[in-house]
Amino acid sequence: PNQRLVGQTAIVTGASSGIGKATAIALASEGASVVINYIGNPAGAEEAASLIQENGGQALLAQADVSKEDQVQRMFADAVDAFGTVDILVANAGLQKDAKFIDMTLKDWQFVLDVNLTGQFLCAREAAREFLRRGTRPDVSQSIGKIICMSSVHEIIPWAGHSNYAASKGGVMLLMKSIAQELGGYKIRVNSVAPGAIRTPINRGAWETPQALSSLMRLIPYKRIGETSDIGSTVAWLCSDEADYIHGHTLVVDGGMTLYPGFEDNG
Ligand code: NAD
Repeated sequence: PNQRLVGQTAIVTGASSGIGKATAIALASEGASVVINYIGNPAGAEEAASLIQENGGQALLAQADVSKEDQVQRMFADAVDAFGTVDILVANAGLQKDAKFIDMTLKDWQFVLDVNLTGQFLCAREAAREFLRRGTRPDVSQSIGKIICMSSVHEIIPWAGHSNYAASKGGVMLLMKSIAQELGGYKIRVNSVAPGAIRTPINRGAWETPQALSSLMRLIPYKRIGETSDIGSTVAWLCSDEADYIHGHTLVVDGGMTLYPGFEDNG
């Protein structure tokens, strides 16, 4: 692997499974020390940490609910204690609580917005505060810090039966762009990654059976499901100085899911 993040520390939220776990491993393989945030699955978090340590990297486990201000602040304080500072935030933690719109409870709505949107606000704000406290280190990176928001193609594609989730990701889009506009002058780089269908526990029903997978393929022009490493490698590159001029952008990684599939045989 490249070593594009040597000397940097990354916090990855929701890193005990799926995309977050793969991203933590990808960042560590680039030389970053990684804080592996988790909420309820210590075994997954420990597995990610062991994989990183076996390869000579540094990892710290941090249990915190990203929707709770005090827990997020404690996680950042622990990261600074362990590694001196934080250079990269990957605000990845997220969940679904699906319901038909007319049956959706206020609890379902608030739960998803609290984790997927407020959680990103709380983590991004602590990250920006830490970047500004520590200031520039030109030997380490051209920017003083990077924030990557894990969005979704559902910041673009409406999603019936998932209005809370789609609203949270639509919110992430303008949260990301607004803070990119506000923080760019401090040399804080802010972007989103918007995955399409990636094989993880969040969407097991969409890929578990051959029938589900073949119906999923109708939505993916490139005709394969995404793997978590597709997102890990994208985030690693986006955090590196190779991507230093990319700011305020949502990078869609979806095998073409946002290309209005269905139109290809409409000729
Ligand atoms: P996942 O369920 O494996 O990962 C989500 C992680 O977030 C889990 O580890 C979970 O424990 C954690 N989490 C949930 N609530 C939390 C909280 N309050 N505090 C801390 N951690 C919490 O699913 P995934 O697919 O890896 O999802 C990761 C991100 O990618 C999510 O934001 C999701 O919306 C986004 N995403 C996934 C896909 C996909 O196809 N898998 C597509 C688009 C976007």
